[in-house]
Amino acid sequence: MDFAFVSDHLALDFAATVAWRTTRHKELLAEPADFARWVAEAGVVDRLETVSQADLVKARTLREAIYGLALAATEGEPADLRDVARIQQAAARSPVRLELHALGQVERQGGVLEVLATLGTTASDLFGGPDHLLIRHCAGEPCTRLFIDRSRAGTRRWCSKRSCGSRINAAAYRRRTSKDEQA
Ligand SMILES: [Zn+2]
Repeated sequence: MDFAFVSDHLALDFAATVAWRTTRHKELLAEPADFARWVAEAGVVDRLETVSQADLVKARTLREAIYGLALAATEGEPADLRDVARIQQAAARSPVRLELHALGQVERQGGVLEVLATLGTTASDLFGGPDHLLIRHCAGEPCTRLFIDRSRAGTRRWCSKRSCGSRINAAAYRRRTSKDEQA
């Protein structure tokens, strides 16, 4: 399964590295190399040289703290202080270093701790700022992705119109047409 970058926020894209959380619970960061691949695809650093099993555990712990706070935000519940502490801890380090070379050309350097610091920082920005009120669940069950609803009317329903949106529309269409046939 490919990684998805459809949430409109890096922290929520990171949370989406567990798919179908309420049903099949598919772990997309099964191996240390999966985390290195996600980090590169997400554009956090150009390349992550070595990721250990312990690094992977740290990454997953931060990810679950992010998911926990995102869930609390969607449900209007207070934040679990353990999740807050985990994000604080990650963000206390120096983040990934960016070196601009030219228009469209930047070098992003850092190891696992810097990557986690960047993720912790972006999560702090999301949960500490007004955008946490815009976090929504995808309506396309069993999809459990979260996203930021930046639509002007506040009516975005799916993580991705192409995957979940079209699937739901097709199902609704089938339901409608089968009803018509029965009538
Ligand atoms: Zn979805």
